[in-house]
Amino acid sequence: MQQGLEGHKARKRFGQNFLHDAHWIGRIARAVDARPGERIIEIGPGQAALTRELVSAAGHAGAVEIDRDLAAWLRTQFSESELTLIEADALTLDWSALAAADPGRPLRIVGNLPYNISSPLLFALLPAADHVADQHFMLQREVVDRMVAAPGSKTYGRLSVMLQWRYRMVKLFDVPPGAFNPPPKVVSSVVRMTPRKPSEVLEVDLPLFSSIVAHAFGQRRKTLRNALSRLLDAAAIEACGVDPQARAETLALESFVALARKASSLGVKPLEANAAD
Ligand code: SAM
Repeated sequence: MQQGLEGHKARKRFGQNFLHDAHWIGRIARAVDARPGERIIEIGPGQAALTRELVSAAGHAGAVEIDRDLAAWLRTQFSESELTLIEADALTLDWSALAAADPGRPLRIVGNLPYNISSPLLFALLPAADHVADQHFMLQREVVDRMVAAPGSKTYGRLSVMLQWRYRMVKLFDVPPGAFNPPPKVVSSVVRMTPRKPSEVLEVDLPLFSSIVAHAFGQRRKTLRNALSRLLDAAAIEACGVDPQARAETLALESFVALARKASSLGVKPLEANAAD
């Protein structure tokens, strides 16, 4: 079933580590469990290891690939009725427009993601969540651990709060470096992300929420009072039932939402932040 692309040199700049181990390819495909007629879209099909499984299970899949050589090769492997190939950068693709184009059929997004773009890509997909059924991604294990981290843990940060606000997330299993060619230096994990129902999503001004979370974690060792000084004063923080002397990593999602709602009620505008994830 697997025909690799002879002579293709894996491109580091595109984060190319191709799956070559049938056991792991099968395990990921079973976790996705694509069904006929579903609207599957894969990010970075590469040499089609997962794509073949998805197309064979669903009958048709979409895929977004940035590498022109791989895109050209993929066109030789699948008919147009099997694969709709979008030759584009998944980071700048208008995911909301793509997802909303067929509103009755929510997207199922799948990807063994290039590690160098995983966090920005997860943020780029956030606005499309209303039209997404689920997302199955393979990422660096350390990133998945941050996504699912609970308050108080060392790995709890911006990625945890922003994604947990919108998705339920379950880490499914680890995948060893030997499953890939070339093998990455790190262990990978597969995560399932299911958007929360609109009624379950805590209502908040997204840019302001995002700004508060970014600033709160931008200087992890600072107290909230200091980290948020350009957005909220100590009295406003306290009015949310939050200790201004606390640090961001101790705060539950609900507290960040309360801070953003407070900021919104005070007419505060979001600020740019160069925060770590
Ligand atoms: N899915 C294949 C597999 O599991 O063997 C390939 C996975 S490889 C880790 C990442 C794939 O994403 C490569 O095919 C790479 O060219 C593609 N890619 C990298 N950056 C991308 C981007 N910004 N947009 C779309 N595809 C990208």
